[in-house]
Amino acid sequence: MPVKVGILGLQGAVEPHMKALTACGAEPRVVRLPDQIAAVDALIIPGGESTTMGILMERFGVKDALLRHAEQGKPMYGTCAGMILMAKEIEGSDQARLGLMDTRVARNSFGRQVDSFEAAVDVPAVGEEPFRAVFIRAPHVVSGGEGVEVLSVFQERIVLVRQGHLLASAFHPELTDDLRLHRYFLQIVNEL
Ligand code: GLN
Repeated sequence: MPVKVGILGLQGAVEPHMKALTACGAEPRVVRLPDQIAAVDALIIPGGESTTMGILMERFGVKDALLRHAEQGKPMYGTCAGMILMAKEIEGSDQARLGLMDTRVARNSFGRQVDSFEAAVDVPAVGEEPFRAVFIRAPHVVSGGEGVEVLSVFQERIVLVRQGHLLASAFHPELTDDLRLHRYFLQIVNEL
Protein backbone atom coordinates (compact mmCIF):
# COMPACT_ATOMS: atom_id res chain seq x y z
CA MET A 1 0.00 0.00 0.00
CA PRO A 2 1.48 3.37 -0.93
CA VAL A 3 2.04 5.75 1.96
CA LYS A 4 -0.63 8.45 2.18
CA VAL A 5 1.13 11.75 2.68
CA GLY A 6 -0.76 14.97 3.30
CA ILE A 7 0.71 18.32 2.32
CA LEU A 8 -0.78 21.13 4.34
CA GLY A 9 -2.34 23.45 1.78
CA LEU A 10 -3.20 26.59 3.72
CA GLN A 11 -0.55 28.73 2.06
CA GLY A 12 2.67 28.18 0.17
CA ALA A 13 3.75 25.89 -2.62
CA VAL A 14 2.34 22.39 -2.41
CA GLU A 15 2.69 21.30 -6.04
CA PRO A 16 6.47 20.59 -6.04
CA HIS A 17 6.06 18.37 -2.95
CA MET A 18 3.20 16.54 -4.69
CA LYS A 19 5.46 15.84 -7.67
CA ALA A 20 8.41 14.69 -5.57
CA LEU A 21 6.28 12.36 -3.43
CA THR A 22 4.52 10.89 -6.47
CA ALA A 23 7.93 10.24 -8.04
CA CYS A 24 8.88 8.35 -4.82
CA GLY A 25 5.84 6.08 -5.17
CA ALA A 26 3.84 7.65 -2.33
CA GLU A 27 0.25 8.83 -2.51
CA PRO A 28 0.29 12.57 -1.80
CA ARG A 29 -2.73 14.79 -1.35
CA VAL A 30 -3.34 18.36 -0.28
CA VAL A 31 -4.99 18.59 3.16
CA ARG A 32 -6.85 21.57 4.58
CA LEU A 33 -9.44 20.10 6.95
CA PRO A 34 -9.12 18.17 10.23
CA ASP A 35 -10.71 15.02 8.72
CA GLN A 36 -8.30 15.09 5.83
CA ILE A 37 -5.36 15.45 8.22
CA ALA A 38 -6.59 12.53 10.33
CA ALA A 39 -6.68 10.30 7.25
CA VAL A 40 -2.99 10.47 6.30
CA ASP A 41 0.01 8.46 7.49
CA ALA A 42 2.44 11.37 7.28
CA LEU A 43 2.37 15.12 6.80
CA ILE A 44 4.47 17.78 5.14
CA ILE A 45 4.27 21.38 6.34
CA PRO A 46 5.55 23.28 3.30
CA GLY A 47 7.38 26.57 2.92
CA GLY A 48 5.57 29.86 2.77
CA GLU A 49 5.27 32.61 5.30
CA SER A 50 5.32 31.15 8.79
CA THR A 51 3.41 34.01 10.45
CA THR A 52 0.58 33.74 7.92
CA MET A 53 0.52 29.95 8.06
CA GLY A 54 0.40 30.04 11.85
CA ILE A 55 -2.59 32.39 11.79
CA LEU A 56 -4.35 30.28 9.13
CA MET A 57 -3.81 27.09 11.13
CA GLU A 58 -5.78 28.60 13.96
CA ARG A 59 -8.42 30.23 11.73
CA PHE A 60 -9.02 27.01 9.75
CA GLY A 61 -9.23 25.06 13.00
CA VAL A 62 -6.57 22.56 11.96
CA LYS A 63 -3.96 23.19 14.64
CA ASP A 64 -5.36 20.52 16.98
CA ALA A 65 -5.52 17.97 14.18
CA LEU A 66 -1.87 18.67 13.34
CA LEU A 67 -0.84 18.33 16.98
CA ARG A 68 -2.80 15.10 17.32
CA HIS A 69 -1.12 13.70 14.21
CA ALA A 70 2.31 14.25 15.78
CA GLU A 71 1.22 13.07 19.23
CA GLN A 72 0.11 9.79 17.66
CA GLY A 73 3.69 9.32 16.50
CA LYS A 74 2.90 9.89 12.84
CA PRO A 75 5.78 11.45 10.89
CA MET A 76 5.81 15.13 10.03
CA TYR A 77 8.30 17.01 7.87
CA GLY A 78 8.53 20.81 7.90
CA THR A 79 10.39 22.61 5.13
CA CYS A 80 11.51 26.21 5.69
CA ALA A 81 8.43 27.97 7.14
CA GLY A 82 7.38 24.45 8.22
CA MET A 83 10.61 24.16 10.22
CA ILE A 84 9.78 27.44 11.96
CA LEU A 85 6.23 26.33 12.79
CA MET A 86 7.43 23.02 14.24
CA ALA A 87 9.96 24.70 16.57
CA LYS A 88 9.26 25.35 20.24
CA GLU A 89 11.19 28.61 20.23
CA ILE A 90 11.39 31.26 17.51
CA GLU A 91 13.94 33.99 18.20
CA GLY A 92 12.35 37.37 18.77
CA SER A 93 8.84 36.24 17.87
CA ASP A 94 5.70 35.17 19.67
CA GLN A 95 3.95 34.12 16.45
CA ALA A 96 1.56 31.16 16.42
CA ARG A 97 3.28 27.79 16.04
CA LEU A 98 2.92 24.05 16.57
CA GLY A 99 5.95 23.93 18.89
CA LEU A 100 6.50 20.21 18.40
CA MET A 101 10.28 20.06 18.18
CA ASP A 102 12.71 20.80 20.95
CA THR A 103 14.44 23.39 18.80
CA ARG A 104 15.15 27.10 18.82
CA VAL A 105 15.13 28.67 15.36
CA ALA A 106 16.05 32.03 13.87
CA ARG A 107 14.23 33.34 10.81
CA ASN A 108 15.76 34.80 7.65
CA SER A 109 19.23 33.62 8.60
CA PHE A 110 21.12 33.89 5.35
CA GLY A 111 21.09 37.63 4.76
CA ARG A 112 18.59 39.99 3.24
CA GLN A 113 20.52 40.83 0.10
CA VAL A 114 20.53 37.30 -1.25
CA ASP A 115 16.99 36.18 -0.62
CA SER A 116 17.25 32.90 -2.39
CA PHE A 117 20.07 30.70 -3.60
CA GLU A 118 20.92 27.12 -4.41
CA ALA A 119 23.79 25.34 -2.71
CA ALA A 120 25.28 21.89 -2.25
CA VAL A 121 24.89 20.76 1.33
CA ASP A 122 26.24 17.63 2.98
CA VAL A 123 23.59 15.27 4.26
CA PRO A 124 25.47 12.11 5.22
CA ALA A 125 22.23 10.33 6.19
CA VAL A 126 21.14 10.25 2.54
CA GLY A 127 24.53 9.53 0.95
CA GLU A 128 27.95 10.91 0.14
CA GLU A 129 26.89 13.02 -2.82
CA PRO A 130 26.04 16.57 -1.63
CA PHE A 131 22.38 17.51 -1.76
CA ARG A 132 21.32 20.40 -4.05
CA ALA A 133 19.26 22.54 -1.74
CA VAL A 134 17.25 25.69 -2.45
CA PHE A 135 17.21 28.30 0.31
CA ILE A 136 14.51 30.99 0.19
CA ARG A 137 14.67 33.48 3.05
CA ALA A 138 15.62 30.44 5.04
CA PRO A 139 15.72 29.96 8.81
CA HIS A 140 18.25 27.87 10.73
CA VAL A 141 18.26 25.94 13.97
CA VAL A 142 20.16 27.82 16.64
CA SER A 143 20.05 25.01 19.18
CA GLY A 144 18.28 21.76 19.89
CA GLY A 145 17.57 19.59 22.91
CA GLU A 146 19.07 16.17 23.58
CA GLY A 147 16.66 14.29 21.36
CA VAL A 148 17.41 16.44 18.35
CA GLU A 149 19.72 14.90 15.80
CA VAL A 150 21.65 17.29 13.54
CA LEU A 151 21.63 15.88 9.99
CA SER A 152 23.19 18.78 8.13
CA VAL A 153 25.22 21.91 8.78
CA PHE A 154 25.76 24.55 6.10
CA GLN A 155 27.82 27.72 6.58
CA GLU A 156 28.12 26.83 10.28
CA ARG A 157 24.35 26.78 10.67
CA ILE A 158 22.18 23.77 11.38
CA VAL A 159 19.85 23.29 8.41
CA LEU A 160 18.40 19.78 8.82
CA VAL A 161 17.27 18.11 12.04
CA ARG A 162 15.38 15.03 13.13
CA GLN A 163 13.68 14.29 16.42
CA GLY A 164 12.28 10.77 16.19
CA HIS A 165 9.37 10.94 13.77
CA LEU A 166 9.78 14.70 13.22
CA LEU A 167 11.99 16.09 10.46
CA ALA A 168 12.71 19.70 9.54
CA SER A 169 14.86 21.39 6.92
CA ALA A 170 15.71 25.06 6.49
CA PHE A 171 15.86 24.52 2.73
CA HIS A 172 13.46 23.29 0.07
CA PRO A 173 14.29 19.79 -1.17
CA GLU A 174 11.22 19.77 -3.45
CA LEU A 175 12.56 22.44 -5.80
CA THR A 176 15.33 20.29 -7.26
CA ASP A 177 15.17 16.83 -8.82
CA ASP A 178 16.95 15.21 -5.89
CA LEU A 179 14.42 12.91 -4.24
CA ARG A 180 16.66 11.59 -1.47
CA LEU A 181 15.16 13.63 1.36
CA HIS A 182 11.59 12.76 0.44
CA ARG A 183 12.69 9.11 0.29
CA TYR A 184 14.37 9.50 3.69
CA PHE A 185 11.12 10.88 5.09
CA LEU A 186 9.12 8.00 3.62
CA GLN A 187 11.60 5.60 5.23
CA ILE A 188 10.73 7.11 8.63
CA VAL A 189 7.08 6.30 7.88
CA ASN A 190 7.97 2.72 7.08
CA GLU A 191 10.21 2.33 10.16
CA LEU A 192 7.28 2.99 12.48
N1 GLN B 1 11.13 33.51 5.78
C1 GLN B 1 9.92 32.75 5.82
C2 GLN B 1 9.30 32.77 7.21
O1 GLN B 1 9.89 33.26 8.10
C3 GLN B 1 10.15 31.32 5.38
C4 GLN B 1 10.47 31.28 3.92
C5 GLN B 1 10.14 29.97 3.25
O2 GLN B 1 9.38 29.16 3.74
N2 GLN B 1 10.67 29.80 2.06
O3 GLN B 1 8.23 32.29 7.37
